[in-house]
Amino acid sequence: MRVGIIGAMDEEIALYLEGMQETKAVTKAGITYYEGTLEGRDVVLCKSGVGKVNASVCTQILIDHFQVEKVIFTGVAGAVHPALNIGDIVVSRDCLQHDIDVTALGFQPGQIPFTDRWIWEADPELIQLAVRAGEQVDEGVSIVTGRILSGDQFVADREKVQRFYEQFGAHCTEMEGAAVGQVCAMNGIPFVVVRSMSDKADGSAHVNFVEFTKLASQRSYAIVVNMLRHLAAGAIVYSTQGCIECDMVKKWLTEKGIAFEVRDVMASRAYQEEVERFGFLGVPVTVVGEKAVKGFDPQELEKLFA
Ligand code: SAH
Repeated sequence: MRVGIIGAMDEEIALYLEGMQETKAVTKAGITYYEGTLEGRDVVLCKSGVGKVNASVCTQILIDHFQVEKVIFTGVAGAVHPALNIGDIVVSRDCLQHDIDVTALGFQPGQIPFTDRWIWEADPELIQLAVRAGEQVDEGVSIVTGRILSGDQFVADREKVQRFYEQFGAHCTEMEGAAVGQVCAMNGIPFVVVRSMSDKADGSAHVNFVEFTKLASQRSYAIVVNMLRHLAAGAIVYSTQGCIECDMVKKWLTEKGIAFEVRDVMASRAYQEEVERFGFLGVPVTVVGEKAVKGFDPQELEKLFA
């Protein structure tokens, strides 16, 4: 399974770039995508740039060209909910655009005209993973699930924050999340947005922003890495080319209609280490979550997928 990871700014993706292995860079539509592994997961990382258009183009390319199956947006945001402080974390329950306004024609604030879909719900499994990961990161930081408002504006206005809270029930505001959410929803791809609060969207951002973006990015990174570690991968078959038993395992899985990812242990030292972590030396090794089966053993494989 491939996971797309998006940040809007250099600071937001810097730690991922350092942490990734086997990185290959490909540029499309002016955005550079880094393919590689992180926590043993197949990931594609990119910096979308700021704003909804950048985020939309980037997300669609991740889905079409890089075939990611889940998308995580990671970054910073301005806090809207009065209980939130700088450094706290908001995991998207849902997100919408605050700056789409066709109220003059009778549509609701935030509503995309002629459709009843304009609130984009994040994936329950990814939300749960993010919250659990957030709880493990740091004491004293609160992590909440809530509504994220996106718009092509850096919000630095107390009155606007008040309106966002009252009108939309928002937790925080930023410039990309709802675009990522909408593109994912249009393509049937699960997503979640994980934001650390870098400012209070109230005009003091010029003081807070740079100072806190780095710290907030560190928190987001710690959470996403933890999420990747716990993401159910489906089945993984560790194999080598020309290995007959490996082919038998793959054929068995295919016949059963079980989706799996193949990891060639000769192609990556990290894959070899993953196999060793299960206490095995040779291949094939078939892994589901924390359980593994060595060799082609239909009975044991049956049990693994029971
Ligand atoms: N790096 C620029 C500012 C980038 S714009 C600078 O230093 O001047 C702000 C980015 O942070 C966007 O990607 C947005 O998603 C997020 N963000 C943080 N606080 C925000 C706020 N109060 N309003 C809108 N976006 C905010």
